[in-house]
Amino acid sequence: MTDATPPRPLPSLTGLAGEFYAWCRKHELRFQRCTACGTWRHVPRELCAACGSWDWEWARSSGQGRVFTWTVAVRAMHPAFQRAVPYAAVVVEMDEGVRILSTVADCPPDALGIGVPVTVAFDEVTPEVTLPTFRRAAKGVSP
Ligand SMILES: [Zn+2]
Repeated sequence: MTDATPPRPLPSLTGLAGEFYAWCRKHELRFQRCTACGTWRHVPRELCAACGSWDWEWARSSGQGRVFTWTVAVRAMHPAFQRAVPYAAVVVEMDEGVRILSTVADCPPDALGIGVPVTVAFDEVTPEVTLPTFRRAAKGVSP
C-alpha cells in the first residue's frame, strides 16, 4: 500500500479570479474596489452591486479581519484533505467589509470564536498557486 495523497483541488487561474490569485502569488491580498462609489467587493465580478458602475481597481487590503463564522469538516470531502480533518472552513470579514472563505491556520477548530482578530498569511501550495489563509492576530493589532 502506498502513501500517495492525491493533489488538492486548486482554483482556476483564469478571468478575474485568476487576477485575484496573481496578487496572492505576490503575497498581496487585494480586492476589487469600485472607483465610482468606493465599495469593496469579493468574490471578483465585473459590476458594482452598490452603484452599477463597471469601473473598479484592485485595491490592497489591510490584511486584517475577524472571524465572521465557520463550520468544521470532520470527514474529508476529497482524499487530499484526509489528513487535515478535522479542520474549520472559516469566513473572515475583512476590515474593508468584504468576506472571504479561508482557514485560520494556527487555530484549532475548538479555539475559534466569532470576532477573533486574524491577519492574512499566504500558503504557497504550488509554484503557480498561492492561497490566502489567516493566522490569529497578535493582541492589540486589530482593534
Ligand atoms: Zn460602486
